[in-house]
Amino acid sequence: MSENAIEIRNLRKTYDGSGRSAAKEALKGIDLDIPAGCIMGLLGPNGAGKSTLINILAGLVRKTAGQVKIWGFDQDVNPRQSRAAIGVMPQELNLDPFFTPRAALEVQAGLYGVPKSQRRSDEILKLIGLEDKAEAYARTLSGGMRRRLLLGKALVHRPQVLVLDEPTAGVDIELRNMLWRNVRRLNEGGMTIILTTHYLEEAQAMCDEIAIINHGALIVRDRTENLLAKMDARALVITPDAPFGSVACPDGVEMTARADGTIAFTYSRNHTTPGAILDAVRAAGITIRDVRTEEPDLEDVFLALTSGKAPPSHDATGVST
Ligand code: ADP
Ligand code: MG
Repeated sequence: MSENAIEIRNLRKTYDGSGRSAAKEALKGIDLDIPAGCIMGLLGPNGAGKSTLINILAGLVRKTAGQVKIWGFDQDVNPRQSRAAIGVMPQELNLDPFFTPRAALEVQAGLYGVPKSQRRSDEILKLIGLEDKAEAYARTLSGGMRRRLLLGKALVHRPQVLVLDEPTAGVDIELRNMLWRNVRRLNEGGMTIILTTHYLEEAQAMCDEIAIINHGALIVRDRTENLLAKMDARALVITPDAPFGSVACPDGVEMTARADGTIAFTYSRNHTTPGAILDAVRAAGITIRDVRTEEPDLEDVFLALTSGKAPPSHDATGVST
């Protein structure tokens, strides 16, 4: 086993244009390592390329160029082994309406060459809470049940890596909680998890690592805690009565003169209080006409990064584009 569950190098995907639609460059050279054992959140607006990336990992979409290694196996060199190492819960509900959940799991296991003696359909049905529905036709299942069945199908061959594409988009809170409980439990059992989600709070709560992609390019990737620590940055903006020289700022505080005549003091919420900064400003003999704070949150940063504009008050986030 390698330290990275997944290694992606210079991954490119161009969808051929067909008929009236032009060719589309969906991935523009992605480099991404996903450490074994982590929960990685893949974030980005609609059309960013998340599903394309995930479907390439799953072997459902052919890459145009680049290298993908799953569990140490190069997709091009060891396609069978790399495929066996990954299970995917797709974004779309693509179930055969005439299969029962048990049959769907058995057929999937068969596709992956899992011998009958090693199948564990009952265990999976229990995990996804469908024991009662084991013999019901898929078309009679609710949307939530179908989603759970898709999760079950992704698990039949005991993959080391589980990929979930928007698992909680449009599902009710109960199902969402159930999915997350399952994901956590699987991760605690050692499974590496990659998921896409639109819910930033969810990503924040669930993911050890976060990667944000936009227009087919990776724009930031870090441990969630690091990202949040950076976003812990705040700015205190004062309007002085008159121009002035220097202020003896508390440690870690940076002072920037802005074009509009205000002075921004960027600081980390964990290390400094606005009060300490104001004390320093007053100690420098400056009269303050106006004062306000600027507080970025994950959503701000995400929007700023993905709209191509600079974040409002930061540099302070330390997130580079
Ligand atoms: P996301 O999952 O982040 O919303 P996708 O990977 O689905 O993004 O799509 C990325 C881009 O590629 C979009 O512009 C989308 O329209 C395009 N795309 C996705 N699938 C296809 C396809 N099969 N044929 C042509 N273009 C596609
Ligand atoms: Mg998608």
